Amino acid sequence: HGKDTGKNTYHFFDESMDKEVADSLSLIADLRSAIAENQLAVHFQPQIDLQTGRISTAEALLRWYHPTRGSIPPLTFIPLAEKSGEMVAIGKWVIAESCRQCVRWNTLTEHPMTVAVNVSPLQFKHADFAQFILSTLEDLKMDPALLELEFTESLLMNDSPEVSENLAALRKANIHLSIDDFGTGYSNLGYLKNFDIEVLKIDRSFISKLSESPQDKAIVTAIVQMAASLGIETVAEGIEDDATAKLVRELNCQKGQGYLWSRPINDEEFINFLKQA
Ligand code: C2E
Ligand code: MG
Ligand code: MG
Ligand code: MG
Repeated sequence: HGKDTGKNTYHFFDESMDKEVADSLSLIADLRSAIAENQLAVHFQPQIDLQTGRISTAEALLRWYHPTRGSIPPLTFIPLAEKSGEMVAIGKWVIAESCRQCVRWNTLTEHPMTVAVNVSPLQFKHADFAQFILSTLEDLKMDPALLELEFTESLLMNDSPEVSENLAALRKANIHLSIDDFGTGYSNLGYLKNFDIEVLKIDRSFISKLSESPQDKAIVTAIVQMAASLGIETVAEGIEDDATAKLVRELNCQKGQGYLWSRPINDEEFINFLKQA
């Protein structure tokens, strides 16, 4: 409705839009060289087994240090990487790097450590996705059961044959599948019986105010009970204080992740964290 906002306002809006587009385009160009220039890093955030108090998993979270703009959040650059096609190469790099670190952790710990890697739907649409993962694991001699892939519910609503074939091949190899941000997406839960899902990650929006909100408590209770009766494990994300950790444990959620234990930290810091744990 440019007409009633007046010519000047409209013009101003137009320019800022242009600037935003130009900005995205220059970031996309920079992303192309980010891997080669060593600007990407995978950070790791521990997940704690709430029964034993032990670290059992780490989630891999991608970071980009831009040479002039500094750190750019994943929620800003991942959509750009998806649009520009760069996400496939970046995603492969994240998987290889995460598995390499996981193999290293397992030489240091008595109990098995798994790694959870976020995967974009675009990666699943590539016919060679499962094969890439299987050959990466083979090269590293890594047990496939130590790898967990996190994706949102929307992936399972996708009817592309490549997605289904990749999912089937990954499950056949015993790679674990985890639904991220559970509870914020589709309300059709039918997919839970059609796909062999190991983990539901309860979205932070249900966890962050858990101790004050009877509604959130009711929702988390229902999710955990439903998951348990389907044989699915639950992870609560975004736990920032002891009271919430205690509550989540009382509700029988198996694992917790959040700033209470650690923020995402780099590979060396994570090794130190493991050694101290
Ligand atoms: P996500 O997979 O749901 O990851 C959890 C996000 O919550 C992370 O943000 C993490 O730093 C943050 N977080 C963890 N604990 C707490 C807490 O106690 N309090 C609060 N306030 N936040 C907490 P981050 O690292 O900025 O990542 C944002 C999103 O970017 C991720 O959400 C994921 O969807 C996406 N992402 C990150 N790395 C990758 C990747 O390698 N590939 C893909 N496709 N997506 C990625
Ligand atoms: Mg995740
Ligand atoms: Mg999540
Ligand atoms: Mg989330």
